[in-house]
Amino acid sequence: MQATLTFLGSGTSMGVPTLGCDCAVCLSAVSPGGGQPAASPHNRRTRPSVLIAWAGHNVVIDTGPDFHAQAIAAGIHRLDAVLYSHGHADHVLGMDDLRPLSFHNSPSLPLYADEETALTIERIFNYTFNPDHYYPTRARVALHRIPSTPGAEIELFGVKFQRVPVTHGRQTITGYRFGSAAYLTDLSDLAPESLPLLTGLDILILDALRHEPHPTHSHLEKSIALVEQIAPRRAFFTHISHGLDHDATNATLPPHIRLAHDGLQLTFDIGTEPARD
Ligand SMILES: [Zn+2]
Ligand SMILES: [Zn+2]
Ligand SMILES: [Zn+2]
Repeated sequence: MQATLTFLGSGTSMGVPTLGCDCAVCLSAVSPGGGQPAASPHNRRTRPSVLIAWAGHNVVIDTGPDFHAQAIAAGIHRLDAVLYSHGHADHVLGMDDLRPLSFHNSPSLPLYADEETALTIERIFNYTFNPDHYYPTRARVALHRIPSTPGAEIELFGVKFQRVPVTHGRQTITGYRFGSAAYLTDLSDLAPESLPLLTGLDILILDALRHEPHPTHSHLEKSIALVEQIAPRRAFFTHISHGLDHDATNATLPPHIRLAHDGLQLTFDIGTEPARD
C-alpha cells in the first residue's frame, strides 16, 4: 500500500533561523524584505515532525511548538492518531493545537507515547488530562501507553507501527518503524536490540544535527556511518541545526542520503510486514 510521508518540520529544537543568530545559514533562511524570497528557503527549518498519510488516514509523529503553522501549510484537516517520540518541548508543546482537530474525532483522538513521555504530557497539559479540571474546550484526546519492549506494536487502520528504542543522550526514547520506513528522531545512538527492527528499509530517517559531535544528537559523520550499517535504500537526515547549509551539505553526501527539508514529501510502501525481532 502506497503512503506519503511529509516532513512538517526538519529543524533542531531551536529552529532555523535560530533566534539572535546572524550566521550565514540563519540569514539565508529569511527574506531580505521587499517581497524578495529567502536566498535558501530550505535552510528555514521548523521543529521536527512528520505526517504519514495512506488510504485517507493521517497520522502525525510529534506535535512541537510549530504544529499550528505546519498543519496549515500541509493542509491537515483531519487527524486519526498522534504518536510521540519523547517529552522534550520541541516534540510535545503543540499538543494543545490538536484541540480543534480532536473535536472531529469520536469519541476522542488517540495519542500514543511511552510511559515517561505520557507522564510528561500529562504534567504539562494537566488541564487536559486531570479529571478534576473543568476546561470545556480542552483537547478530546485519549493518551495510550506504548509498552517499552523493542518491537512493541500499535496497529492503526491495518498498519503496524513498531517501537524502535532510540538512545537520546542518557534517555531511551521511541522511534517508529512502519512498513518500509523508519523515523528515528533525537537519536544519539542505537541499542543493539534495535538493529533487527531496521532490516529491509526503503526509507530511514534519523538525526544529523551538525558537523561536530553532540552529547544527545548524532552528527553528520556518525549518521552517515549508521546509514551504512543499517543499509536502507535511501536515508534522510532531520533535526538539523544552523550548522548545516542545505545545498552545500547535500553536495557532499552520497546520492542515496539527503538532508530533509520542511515540506519534503516521500512516497513509500506502508504495507510491508514489519520486521520481527
Ligand atoms: Zn528534539
Ligand atoms: Zn545561525
Ligand atoms: Zn529531545
